[in-house]
Amino acid sequence: MSLRGTNQESGRPYNRRIVLETIRLHGPVARGEIARRVGLTVQTVSTIIRELELQDFIIGAREEPKGRGYPATALTLNPEGGFAIGANVTPIGIDVALINLAGQIIGQVGREISHPDPDRAFAEITDATAELRRLRPKGRMLGLGMAMPGPFDVESMSFVGPTTLQGWKDVPIQERLMTATGLPAYVGGDVSSAALSERLYGAGRSLREFYYLYLGVGTGGTFVHDGQAMRGARGNAGEIGHVSFIPGGEPCPCGNRGCLERYLSVEALDRRAKIIGEDGWVKEVAPLLRTAITAIENLFDPETIIFGGLAPEAVMKKLARAVEPLQPSVAERRDRTIPRLTLSVTGKAALLRGAAALAFSNVLAPRIGSGSDDDNDPLMQKSKAEKAA
Ligand SMILES: [Zn+2]
Repeated sequence: MSLRGTNQESGRPYNRRIVLETIRLHGPVARGEIARRVGLTVQTVSTIIRELELQDFIIGAREEPKGRGYPATALTLNPEGGFAIGANVTPIGIDVALINLAGQIIGQVGREISHPDPDRAFAEITDATAELRRLRPKGRMLGLGMAMPGPFDVESMSFVGPTTLQGWKDVPIQERLMTATGLPAYVGGDVSSAALSERLYGAGRSLREFYYLYLGVGTGGTFVHDGQAMRGARGNAGEIGHVSFIPGGEPCPCGNRGCLERYLSVEALDRRAKIIGEDGWVKEVAPLLRTAITAIENLFDPETIIFGGLAPEAVMKKLARAVEPLQPSVAERRDRTIPRLTLSVTGKAALLRGAAALAFSNVLAPRIGSGSDDDNDPLMQKSKAEKAA
């Protein structure tokens, strides 16, 4: 992702965000290096740095002098400069966490609730938010992000099944969350939230093109292209769990037979392990996972497939071992520097960090038109509050 500044005065909020994003991605980094990367003058970058330091979003440390000359200040994100709530609602429970700007989980609350309805979920999230905010009573809260399973707004697939949430259709989720918690709220799919977390904090940090295969209660995936998760026309791209892998196989609530997630998902693991044991299940589903990997590679040509989700770490490791040797595909090349399959074992934490990142990126991510001027830029709130005081 190349971030370039703009010389237009109306582009100041945008320039602030690309400077902040550059520090986040490359920190500790000196201002001369930032200026070079974003194509702005050192003077412009220095002005922005002063503003961001005043807002407590970044901190600088003077490096040890190397030889003669004035030592450069290395700038990093201030982890405690801002906080967000990340929430995850699934058919098996609700998890809520307080997360700082560096993606570290400060505190976490979890409740096991089978198929929570909206009223119950909003009440739990509101209570958990109040409890977690006490961990940083003076912390600047940038918002709340909630991840939930898809598919979204699909008439033909608004089915009732073990991997979906019922009673959530037509609920104004964002509005209800904002009213309940008093925070700016954002909602996203669980798979794209987990993929966002991988891009920001995990194995995807240094990758431009990767596929994130998510083994949750249901199974899904998303292709991250040039740093952005591909959404499709209605945000449902990547529902690989509802592709028929076994013609005439087990019926699925979506209306098809033999869908991948009827066999390969946490829901299927819970069901099958009771009968054939965990190792028996791994052996049973390994060929399906191997086929899925080949299909994904040939469709998207990713640098790697990051395999993550909510299954226990030991199970994820067993699955990753059981698919070897992988089948031939466009990904089979001698000059590979990273493996075709990269295991992510961050599970629930990845989802919660990804959910919080929905809130962070709405305030912090570089976008043209993010605040037309200084007065409307949410990044500059602190000075406004101080001016008012
Ligand atoms: Zn299905």
